[in-house]
Amino acid sequence: PQPARSTAQSTAGSAALFERAHAVTPGGVNSPVRAFNAVGGTPRFIESARGAYLTDVDGNEYVDLVCSWGPMLLGHAHRDVLAAVAEAAARGTSYGTPTRPEVELAEEIVARTPVDKVRFVSSGTEATMSAIRLARGFTGRELVVKFAGCYHGHVDSLLASAGSGLATFAVPGTPGVPAASTAATLVLPYNDVEAVRAAFAEHGDDIACVITEAAPGNMGVVPPAPGFNAFLAETCAAHGALFVSDEVMTGFRVTRSGQWGLDGAVEGWRPDLVTLGKVMGGGFPAAAFGGRADVMAMLSPEGPVYQAGTLSGNPVATTAGLATLRLATDDVYAHIDKASLLLQEAASASLREAGVPHLVQSTGNMFSVFFVEEDVTSVPNFEVAGTQRVDRFRAFFHAMLEQGVYLPPSAFESWFLSAAHDDRALDKIISALPAAARAAA
Ligand code: PLP
Repeated sequence: PQPARSTAQSTAGSAALFERAHAVTPGGVNSPVRAFNAVGGTPRFIESARGAYLTDVDGNEYVDLVCSWGPMLLGHAHRDVLAAVAEAAARGTSYGTPTRPEVELAEEIVARTPVDKVRFVSSGTEATMSAIRLARGFTGRELVVKFAGCYHGHVDSLLASAGSGLATFAVPGTPGVPAASTAATLVLPYNDVEAVRAAFAEHGDDIACVITEAAPGNMGVVPPAPGFNAFLAETCAAHGALFVSDEVMTGFRVTRSGQWGLDGAVEGWRPDLVTLGKVMGGGFPAAAFGGRADVMAMLSPEGPVYQAGTLSGNPVATTAGLATLRLATDDVYAHIDKASLLLQEAASASLREAGVPHLVQSTGNMFSVFFVEEDVTSVPNFEVAGTQRVDRFRAFFHAMLEQGVYLPPSAFESWFLSAAHDDRALDKIISALPAAARAAA
């Protein structure tokens, strides 16, 4: 039984662990945003999770709107996924040989997404890093186009900030990245057709690929303007460059394929390469990149572009991913879509009632609440997303947390739901919203 709880949350256990963690780990965390540095306060150390709920080491329970930053599409500790994982683990956890589950997961991914072939890696970062190497190897060109506000993992060449002016080369976004690593990266404003045209007019013969989040979630959710992804695909094709669609976050989440199910499949185009991660690992480290058969044929050992990994296609991770995808039926997506709409409307209503300027933006069931300076009809790119009132978000976040709702601890993230977010979980979120909106006012 859980210890009786007073109304104020105790965070003594989390605070003690955070202090111990600081002694042995930079910032006390293994990925920066977990430290609550954007919102302040004590990051919660989670002891266990089930369905839509997290329980921290002090016994506080939260409805989870982070879902491990996307992967937990079915909710935490899904019985059937756990059973498959336990069975796989009992047969040994890693052999460094080909295995059956990786073939079956690859078949499932090829059936659901616009890729002919797929190669497994262990993180989204590895997926984008490898996709870019492959694009460069295939085209024999070096330049990479990316968009400001899109995150593709911590790949040197993609940790780039916009240089001054359009179509100039990027500068490193962090110490430790050599200028040479970003010198072949062009950073453009998202959703900006003219900027893309100008970059191709000037550098078209040297561009190996355009990489973009299929629908950005890492500056808050900024949906592609209608036709923007199609335009990128066409522009790349016209100049002999590859279009790399990063679906690490959106893949198998916003539809049974990903963002492509919302645009490409409807409009009739395909990306040349796709990167995947998060949901496809079912909560384990599994990610992938895939695409056109002729491009993928350039990969070692079939072709000359080297790429490898000790734990790539790990049998436990791919079993978890396969079990997750097999359970991710149309009903699951319909449920999450409906829950997402309900929450978007409820959040907006509470903020409107409290007089807090805001904009809710979504792509499929992924959405963000932007705490904009004043009411606007769209946040099209990072230039606008970056002007949020983070002070308001911070107050909102902590008011939700105190009422037992765990939001992403940053104003620049998507909120994630799962199949396990039932009426009880949604009611708990919705009833916490009015007080949080007032706190943000
Ligand atoms: N690409 C996108 C769109 C992402 O959202 C992320 C992570 O959030 C990554 C790549 C990197 O994935 P990972 O954190 O598994 O390295």
